Parts: sequence; structure tokens; C-alpha cells
Amino acid sequence: MSEESQVKTDELDAQIEARRRLALAQIRQYPDPVLRLEAQEIEAFDDDLRQLVERMTRLMQDARGVGLAANQVGIARRVAVVDADGDRFAMIDPVIVETEGAGTAEEGCLSIPEIYADVTRPERVVIEASDREGNRYRREATGLKARAIQHEIDHLDGILFLDHLSLMRRQMLMSRWRREHKDDTSHIKEVQPAADRAE
Ligand SMILES: [Zn+2]
Repeated sequence: MSEESQVKTDELDAQIEARRRLALAQIRQYPDPVLRLEAQEIEAFDDDLRQLVERMTRLMQDARGVGLAANQVGIARRVAVVDADGDRFAMIDPVIVETEGAGTAEEGCLSIPEIYADVTRPERVVIEASDREGNRYRREATGLKARAIQHEIDHLDGILFLDHLSLMRRQMLMSRWRREHKDDTSHIKEVQPAADRAE
């Protein structure tokens, strides 16, 4: 690569990184309580909904994520977008109707940057959801796409990927995250997932 084109590549990388940071700044970060809310079903497939889907799609792309749920932009409605394995789509009021197998892979979350952990989930899922016009559709997914779909539907139920880990592993990762982000989040009290509150 010539020196000149290397400079251009560096400039492009810097632009992509700047866009990613701007997008992350608009995404709610753990332990924001909205991430623990159970999102409500959509009542109207109107322009507000379509604008929300567009905004979320743009943020997901800029943040270089494979999915984003409405809770992550502070709106507790059952809306999520996914962009995985070359397939980009919106899921409105999604439900998982079939699961099969199990697979383990590393997961991360735009609301908990820089924290990654192996999570075991069904390998194949079939969902039913509405598109932005309100048409119900069915979709089958495996691999990364199936994982992204399940991660996003979890968000709509107030569940984070860390909740799938053992309590010990989760507490270790969360305390590391809190230590690294102390300045921004130490004023926010964490809301525990329902399963923990029952213990
Ligand atoms: Zn997430």
C-alpha cells in the first residue's frame, strides 16, 4: 500500500471510529434502569414507529453492532433491529416460536462495551414478528443471526447477556465494568434481574 493510500485509510478509520463513539454515546449504558424494563407491545404502526426503526438501524450500523433493542435508546417498546449474516431487518413484537440445539459463542453488548463472555443459547430459532408496516412474518435463523435475535428479544424483557452466566462470573465481569466506568455510572444504583431479586 502506498503511503498516500495508507493516510486515506487511516483517515477513514478515524471517521468510522468517531461515528462509532457518537453512536455509543446515544445508546443507554449499563446499569441504566431502562435496560431492566419489560418493554410494552406496539399499538400503532405509524410514522413515529418507522422513524424509531430508522434511527435504531442507523445507530446499530454506526456503532457496528449486530443488533439493537428500543430499551437501549431509552424507549421501552417491543422493537428491535438486527443486522447479521447479511440480513438486516426490524422485529416488532417478536416472539420465539421454536428453538433447537445449543451453541456457545462469545457475546458482547452495545450497552456494556468492552465486556465479552461466552453464552450458551439455542442454535436455531424460528420467530414471528411484525415488520414496520405491521405485517406479521416468520423467520428462521441459525448461528450468529439466531444469537443476535435472542440477545435482542432478551433486551425487550429486561434481560442482559450477562444474566445467562453463572452468578459468580457475572458479578466478576460487572464489578470490572463498574470499576472501569466508575466516573460515569457510580451514581446509578443497579436494578437486579427478576431472577436474582427472588433469591
Ligand atoms: Zn445488547
